Amino acid sequence: MRYLILSDIHGNWEALEAVLRDAGSDFDEILCCGDLVGYGADPNRVVDWARSRVKTVVRGNHDKACAGLDGLEWFNPAARDAALWTRQTLTSRNLEFLRRLPQGPVAMDSFQLLHGSPLDEDEYLVSTFAVAQIVDYLERPISFFGHTHLQGGFLCYRNSVKRLDRPHLGETRRIIELEHNPFYLINPGSVGQPRDGDPRAAYLAYDSENRLVEFRRVPYDVRKSQEKIRGAGLPALLADRLELGS
Ligand code: ZN
Repeated sequence: MRYLILSDIHGNWEALEAVLRDAGSDFDEILCCGDLVGYGADPNRVVDWARSRVKTVVRGNHDKACAGLDGLEWFNPAARDAALWTRQTLTSRNLEFLRRLPQGPVAMDSFQLLHGSPLDEDEYLVSTFAVAQIVDYLERPISFFGHTHLQGGFLCYRNSVKRLDRPHLGETRRIIELEHNPFYLINPGSVGQPRDGDPRAAYLAYDSENRLVEFRRVPYDVRKSQEKIRGAGLPALLADRLELGS
């Protein structure tokens, strides 16, 4: 099977559109590691798309908060304002869809999908130290995760954890051939709000038969997304950060 694996779209329609155009039809299924909404100005458009096109979405912390399943006290002020705006803007059908999203990890055939960590969808797996603590809780040798908005991930051997390489600025692709023994935690990066210093939308393609992961980056119309965020009255910071990729 050939999968497109997306995460952290965050209501950014322009970024999602660019990803789908870039991916073409060269895949069998689309999967999402959570956070369809929050921050961006097009939550309904993104959720409408997810309802009809995405095979499996695991719930992200913003999906949970925007659906009213969680309080907003852990969010910073900009995220909180955006979550309230999103909650008011979503149609009842889309709110219901978010409320029913499964909490990860969700097991697929040979791999699993999760948002933050296998223990807590709100936990950020950023350091090799943090990853070493949770390796024993991985129920599949390959896990796709999100939440950090950092494309790449980790290769976990019995006694060590290494970082996976990702496309550098100026590159659009990086292919990784998966080995059989280690455990992998793989992050497609964020479609709608990258934070790794590269403002291009991030995603990945996974060919499960040939065990190939291809990290991809694609530029999109950042200015249009920014105009929509400002036009909706969402915090200006959420527009500003898109062009920085931070
Ligand atoms: Zn997110």
